[in-house]
Amino acid sequence: MKKTPFVTREQIAEIAKTYPTPFHIYDEKGIRENARKLKAAFSWNKGFREYFAVKATPNPYILKILQEEGCGVDCSSMTELMLSQACGFGGTDIMFSSNDTPAEEFQKARELGAYINLDDITHVDFLREEAGIPETVFCRFNPGGVFQMGTDIMDNPGDAKYGMPEDQMIQAFRRLKELGAKRFGIHSFLASNTVTNDYYPTLAGILFELAVRIKEAAGVDIAFINLSGGVGVAYHPDQEPNDIAIIGDGVRKKFEEIMVPAGLGEVSIFTELGRFMLAPYGGLVTKAIHEKHIHKEYIGVDACAVNLMRPAMYGAYHHITVLGKEDGPCDCKYDVVGSLCENNDKFAIDRMLPRIEKGDYLFIHDAGAHGFAMGYNYNGRLKSAELLLKEDGSVELIRRAETARDYFATFDFSDILKDVEW
Ligand SMILES: *Cc1c(COP(=O)(O)O)cnc(C)c1O
Repeated sequence: MKKTPFVTREQIAEIAKTYPTPFHIYDEKGIRENARKLKAAFSWNKGFREYFAVKATPNPYILKILQEEGCGVDCSSMTELMLSQACGFGGTDIMFSSNDTPAEEFQKARELGAYINLDDITHVDFLREEAGIPETVFCRFNPGGVFQMGTDIMDNPGDAKYGMPEDQMIQAFRRLKELGAKRFGIHSFLASNTVTNDYYPTLAGILFELAVRIKEAAGVDIAFINLSGGVGVAYHPDQEPNDIAIIGDGVRKKFEEIMVPAGLGEVSIFTELGRFMLAPYGGLVTKAIHEKHIHKEYIGVDACAVNLMRPAMYGAYHHITVLGKEDGPCDCKYDVVGSLCENNDKFAIDRMLPRIEKGDYLFIHDAGAHGFAMGYNYNGRLKSAELLLKEDGSVELIRRAETARDYFATFDFSDILKDVEW
């Protein structure tokens, strides 16, 4: 499917007068419409709620939009909890799905009244000692082995550090019950960025059957099934995007088949989507500042892997549109690169694109989740601004760009940098 940016060259040229490139820009309209589709797809389940995975796009303005659409938040660190609290999420608006969790974070989550999702059986007593056992607790499941759908190997839970096997889940639930917990949830995340409408229904089938067995074996009341994240997006134009209505209906069928006959028809379904909620509704906008003709053809842009790490880290594909040349022939083969002194700092390798001139704006698609958030500061490169394209067409700054002062701020205890001119 052809990928069309949600902004035009003219819009970007105008925005860049106020906010120089590079910047991330998010599409409020797209975010809201998508959140509503998700909600509609699961409206058959009375207690359904999406807990947006904060790590994907930890920006308070984005969290507020999702809050208005009825979402909660999924946190896994102290600062994510703090950010969520500051945005007005509290109590059961927060799912704390962490692993290798420090005591202070369990304490903070308890103080906020958040749902706590335990990653390991040893965390039951750790939580008891450090923060106390809440009335409602979740446990994270890891089936081991490989996770297959038909003949496709989707991921490798046997190699993943998360969750616990079934026998430990049962023991954990028994122990939690002994310690006073009353309501229980089951969570699992078996594959990331799945581009198939079958992932959630397959996962749901596994977790629903597990819930029936655990209810018997541990004698506990299962109230929630958390399908977690993993519903992906079509980064490549050749991929068929997921259809959330079909996905929701697939989960409903499994629910009616497995949960309803087992007397678990009142169980609430939760999701913790990050990528699916935001990725397509954010783009990284960067300007071509150099072209270089050596053994290959290079376009140097003013963004780098600091602004979007996925290509460097995973070799991930991100589609690129040269703004204003949407319909031009893609007859030039380029490596599109940033300035880091690391050869993996390439947004695209051997990519066929329209001829690029210095000054052209490139729109790097699907950067709205796990994009800005993964940023780092290698080579002393600074993180960009984040902008919001609002529904009325205006643009709002939702995070300013880093400055050298921010970069050096952690030396504020020292005199060495006191004479730096910021
Ligand atoms: C990262 C993460 C998510 C979100 O994953 P996406 O691939 O962005 O949907 C949800 N839950 C947990 C526990 C995670 O670690």
